Amino acid sequence: MEKLDMLYKGKAKKLYSTDDPNVLWVEYMNQATAGDGAKKAQIQGKGSLNNRITTVLFRLLEAEGVKTDFIRRVSDTEQLNEKISMFPLEIIMRNTAAGSFAKRYGIKEGTQLKRPILEFCYKSDDLHDPFINVDGIVALGLATDEEMAEVSRQTRDISEKLTKIFHDIDVKLVDFKIEEGKNKDGEIVLADEITPDTCRLWDLKDGSGKVEHLDKDLFRRDLGDIIPAYEEIYKRLLALADRRGVKVE
Ligand code: UDP
Repeated sequence: MEKLDMLYKGKAKKLYSTDDPNVLWVEYMNQATAGDGAKKAQIQGKGSLNNRITTVLFRLLEAEGVKTDFIRRVSDTEQLNEKISMFPLEIIMRNTAAGSFAKRYGIKEGTQLKRPILEFCYKSDDLHDPFINVDGIVALGLATDEEMAEVSRQTRDISEKLTKIFHDIDVKLVDFKIEEGKNKDGEIVLADEITPDTCRLWDLKDGSGKVEHLDKDLFRRDLGDIIPAYEEIYKRLLALADRRGVKVE
């Protein structure tokens, strides 16, 4: 497989074409951003850790029957993904109130929700990814009702599986963001990344009840270095994959 032209440069990844029109070459960068790009830094080792963490998580989910666009990891910071047609949506699931949700409704961060909440944001840098509901998505032609029913079903399923994965490594999955798209066979699949950049992960290990962040909130809120936290998540996930007999390259 040959890495060809750069197609797109995002905040944390670069996408390249390859000699196969159905395959994308994805490079994870060391760049960290927060607050819609207002805060920016280069953090040595982040690209490699996120590339590896997303590889383990996608392999663990695939082992449980989740369909994804992931092909394989090809280097420290790079992986191959199927080229799919992405829905321009950030799909967010929340188990516990935190971040913008806690702020929006004036709830204390950490409040357990009576049921998980599925939210959508319209991916648009110019508009700062505004909140949108299914009626808005269908009315704007971003996806059909049927597609949104399937996206929602898959996201709730992924949420249950991810919550269990993190519970098994003594981490509370507070909330997360995923993206989905349609592959060449018209199937809706999980895409993009699942990393501590896109999840809120609270350590349950010390049992004191004090929140210990193992995610990008360390960077967003100037709470400390993200690398030891991301390394800890990676180490625990690898051990879980081993316990579950899931092969990770
Ligand atoms: N999230 C993300 N990308 C975004 C916005 C949010 O990955 O552009 C993730 C974030 O890491 C968290 C969840 O989605 O796990 C919910 O984020 P929230 O809406 O609370 O936004 P924030 O407080 O991070 O602005």
